[in-house]
Amino acid sequence: MTSAAAATHPRRVGDIDVTVLSDGYLDASLEVARNLPPAPEALIRRHGGRVPPRISVNTFLVRSAGRRALIDTGSGDSMGPTLGQLPRALAAVGVAPGAIDAILLTHMHPDHSNGLSDAAGRRLFPNAEVVLHENEIPHWFDDAAMARAIESQRIRYFGQARQQIAPYRDRVREFRAGEVFPGVTAIPIPGHTPGHTAFLIASGNESLLVWGDTVHIPELQVPRPEVTMMFDTDPDAAARSRVRVFDMAASENLPVAGMHLHFPGFARMTKSAGNFVLVSES
Ligand SMILES: [Zn+2]
Repeated sequence: MTSAAAATHPRRVGDIDVTVLSDGYLDASLEVARNLPPAPEALIRRHGGRVPPRISVNTFLVRSAGRRALIDTGSGDSMGPTLGQLPRALAAVGVAPGAIDAILLTHMHPDHSNGLSDAAGRRLFPNAEVVLHENEIPHWFDDAAMARAIESQRIRYFGQARQQIAPYRDRVREFRAGEVFPGVTAIPIPGHTPGHTAFLIASGNESLLVWGDTVHIPELQVPRPEVTMMFDTDPDAAARSRVRVFDMAASENLPVAGMHLHFPGFARMTKSAGNFVLVSES
């Protein structure tokens, strides 16, 4: 992966440039899934997926009204050699980290926010503000929630979230909903984490819904939205948000993009005989 070409993919949304920047991929085990139907492997294969699932990690550069935002930062150097490719992808499209004005976070999990800061506690995006839902940081700084979490998540999730955000503490902008960057509207979709957020990018009569972690394994959770992940903060709420986002994307025929849709991650949601069907496009 380190010798491969940086993976980037441009798209236009009206006057806004959206470029997918791949942070890489990870090979996951179905052991992270909960509430599985019988024979999940067969279901995944029937929908064209591989087992064990290979999960893309995508980030998005948004250039709008003369400003530059990144939606999520990938995993930095915290998750092994198949990930942490965002800095190379950003360089490949000719954008310096110091030219990023804002980082819009869908949520704080290692594969989304560990690219904010380096191990020495320096900002990797020295001039950026961090923009995220008001419920996100309080959750990761909640000692009681940390004590309730399973042991493997205490350092990996709570500890690293605290560490990653620290160098930005005087430049955090929190929102509830609404426009957070020119042409970009925040839509809270809580459950996966308390502040999990989708971003609707719109310009002219075009739009694109960047739906964060609405799905982790598309071939499983599109046909079976009730399947949750062991790292969902509130699995029932995550499943409800997933169906709400699917319904919105299908009924409004919205192009969607996802952090864990297969690179480059553009698709449309349709409904066939009562079942959701995701059709990839690029
Ligand atoms: Zn994720």
